[in-house]
Amino acid sequence: MKIPYKIYLSEDEMPKQWFNLRAQMKELPEPFVNPATGEYCTKEELLPVFCEELVDQELNVTDTYIDIPQEIQNYYRMYRPSPLVRAYNLEKELDTPAEIYFKYEGTNTSGSHKLNSAVAQAYYAKKQGLTCLTTETGAGQWGTALSMACAYFGLDLSVYMVKVSAEQKPHRRAVMETYGAKVIASPSNTTQAGRKILAETPDTNGSLGCAISEAIEVAVTSENCKYVLGSVLNHVGIHQSVIGMETKLACDKYGIKPDIIIGCAGGGSNLLGLIAPFMADKINGKNEIEFTAVEPASCPSLTRGKYALDFGDTGKTTPLIRMYTLGSGFMPSPNHAGGLRYHGMSPIISKLYHDGYINAKSYAQKEVFDAAVAFTRVEGILPAPESSHAIKAAMDEALACKASGQKKTIVFGLTGTGYFDMTAYMNYNAGNMTDHIPTDEELQVGFDSLPKID
Ligand SMILES: *Cc1c(COP(=O)(O)O)cnc(C)c1O
Repeated sequence: MKIPYKIYLSEDEMPKQWFNLRAQMKELPEPFVNPATGEYCTKEELLPVFCEELVDQELNVTDTYIDIPQEIQNYYRMYRPSPLVRAYNLEKELDTPAEIYFKYEGTNTSGSHKLNSAVAQAYYAKKQGLTCLTTETGAGQWGTALSMACAYFGLDLSVYMVKVSAEQKPHRRAVMETYGAKVIASPSNTTQAGRKILAETPDTNGSLGCAISEAIEVAVTSENCKYVLGSVLNHVGIHQSVIGMETKLACDKYGIKPDIIIGCAGGGSNLLGLIAPFMADKINGKNEIEFTAVEPASCPSLTRGKYALDFGDTGKTTPLIRMYTLGSGFMPSPNHAGGLRYHGMSPIISKLYHDGYINAKSYAQKEVFDAAVAFTRVEGILPAPESSHAIKAAMDEALACKASGQKKTIVFGLTGTGYFDMTAYMNYNAGNMTDHIPTDEELQVGFDSLPKID
């Protein structure tokens, strides 16, 4: 069958259920641990921070399929299904026998896959009768997505934005404010956590871990308010499975059999969502797909981190999560892929990696931008720096096929557009882009911040 440039599903074919991979895993990730007691967290302990239905999803390890509420399906219809694109032009450019496909999540105004979970989280918050949400944002994609979702459902939103991003991306901030959100550069003096970090390190660029501490503090001290997170957590991965469900439907429809599926990994949510149904088949012996997580060499949680219990935030206020981590005290260098600068990783992705179901590789910033520019010149789409990590890995796979004469089918997640990352592209174009790869000594500083509990 001739495969079109873009495979679109019809609205009727869109998934009506999310996929909860944990229900199919042979061994489960460890539950969250309460740092005060050393015991596993109960539902009651999570309720002060998160919405009830999200806590249920967070703890659900038995239901493979979870119904997508009709209101969320209606919102999804405004920008989904997203296309699965055959990168014919890139194949030609690379002169490779490989087939390359990418699932493109940049077609909505927020410009990334983050909206898939933002809409779900805002919906459940509204349903529970909340009036306000708080969150953090690194590169700004999550804050933008949540601003859109909160505007739609009529919720107030405060976004703690990592300081270096707020400075580099004034237009991101303007988009969030246009949707009605309040944006605060983090660390800020509006919270105890922020004031403490500012007192210790006044010149800090900020970090996701620190912005999370601030947002949680505001949520738990405000009326009718909860905190929401755009990555890492299990329920976020469940919402993102709409990416993988659509990809699998499109592949099945056209007889496409991926040999390798690649995703960039910051907190792991797009990767988890993309691979979920394919990974379940692999676990059940139904395919031999290779799965690859790609991360920046400047923030190498999988490739150089430790599999340990760690806090999700710098202020050490969250439960402990068993994950690959660089330590909550790790401060990444100001890499342009802001969305990949988190110290930890989804506990599900971490467990799958630990058990050998997923490979990981890292790339330095400049080679990632080389790939991004080569890609944009032939495929037209200007990719986000985060997404470009997956592009780089896919191109390397395709070139390896050329060298060996193998004809593999490569699928990768193109998570978003780079329109708000022009400072990064300007740097690259001017030849000013630098690579910072942390030394073992620098990583040790982060590891020293790990809780002494194992
Ligand atoms: C946030 C983001 C990522 C990384 O987040 P994950 O949770 O690892 O998916 C990747 N790409 C884009 C465009 C993002 O906005």
